[in-house]
Amino acid sequence: MDSDRIIVFFAELSTKGKNIMDFIRLLGKNIKTALKDFPLLSYEIKKDHIYILLNGTPYEEVKEKLSKVPGILSFSHAKAVAKDIEAIKEESLELYRRSGAKTFKANCRRVDKDFPLHSDEVNRHIGGKILSSCPESKVDVHHPELMIHVMIRKEGCFVYGIKDKGIGGYPLGIAGKALMLISGGIDSPVAAYLMMKRGVKLEMVHFAAPPYTSDRVIDKIHDLLHVLNDYQSDIKLYIVPFTALEKKVYELAGPSYCVTVMRRMMMRISCALAYQHNDLVLATGESIGQVASQTLYSVKVIEEACSLPMMRPLCTYDKTEIIDLAKKIRTYDISIRPYEDCCTIFTLKDPVTHPKMEKVEEIEKAYDFTSMVKECVRNVKVEHIVKEEKEAF
Ligand code: ATP
Ligand code: MG
Repeated sequence: MDSDRIIVFFAELSTKGKNIMDFIRLLGKNIKTALKDFPLLSYEIKKDHIYILLNGTPYEEVKEKLSKVPGILSFSHAKAVAKDIEAIKEESLELYRRSGAKTFKANCRRVDKDFPLHSDEVNRHIGGKILSSCPESKVDVHHPELMIHVMIRKEGCFVYGIKDKGIGGYPLGIAGKALMLISGGIDSPVAAYLMMKRGVKLEMVHFAAPPYTSDRVIDKIHDLLHVLNDYQSDIKLYIVPFTALEKKVYELAGPSYCVTVMRRMMMRISCALAYQHNDLVLATGESIGQVASQTLYSVKVIEEACSLPMMRPLCTYDKTEIIDLAKKIRTYDISIRPYEDCCTIFTLKDPVTHPKMEKVEEIEKAYDFTSMVKECVRNVKVEHIVKEEKEAF
């Protein structure tokens, strides 16, 4: 058996109480899905960590994918060694030499109390071995360049150095399923990422207004969702044909109330879809005060048309913070491609920032919008956006 393995550590486990095993099983399943392109890997799922046995697969290739699986706090490339102090010392020395570090500290965790030496004794043995073998080496207990971790468990003994960071959060799906409104702008893909990271599986709804909005917008949504496929490998996308409804709203509401009423219609359609597909809540990329429809006055009037809870993960973020995150998750370059959104096609000169409910109700009563909403829901186009296959070499 190959001694190379990855040890995966979980995020926020302490808050999970009795649900710990569900959490770990789901994380194990999600990891296997994310790493399905690596057929040689095998898995051992334990109570507070997961082993991924590499069986010859290069760590660096697996690392890239693993760093995007929600629910992982950190993970390390470890070597399994015999449960024997000489073997531990040898591997620690090897690790030190490979790392190129000058200073080090040994950090042993002895979970298997049958191991004859205490953690401190193991640490001292390792320190002695490295100091005597490498004259330039130094112990630094506060800021070592290399931390040598030794984990002694019933099932074996493992030595590792660097802890690579995961994205944290919860395993995808543990928190239920939500419907995200995705626009093709900068904000909504970032909001989607934050929801996924929190364990929420997402379905997406996009409102399209052809011919005012072109197919390029849909291409853009596809490209964005392919990036998000790294966190959720299969994403359902509902495309709502919104042109007729939007035109009618514009006709009756005029430039100042158009966005308010239009967004209320979006809420109604989204809620209907969410009920149909068992999505528990809606989510958007809105941020307080960013545009007229995102003042608290607007939010209140718009949300009154919504019969499901609404999540706004970016509500307190500044645009610069959102942009930084968009760059980090690599949606930014796609999001800034020029496009028309159905919200912007009718140039809205003076959108109201303090909409009045009475005025909104008056507009909505002037036409049979209920039938138009139902028509939109009936004509939704459904797509599945799945992780693109690994490129052939
Ligand atoms: P983004 O927030 O994605 O950058 P934006 O800031 O231009 O776009 P707004 O028009 O202010 O977006 O809309 C706020 C939120 O409403 C978006 O984050 C998104 O969740 C939703 N939204 C806007 N337009 C659409 C659309 N055409 N389809 C689906 N959802 C949309
Ligand atoms: Mg926005």
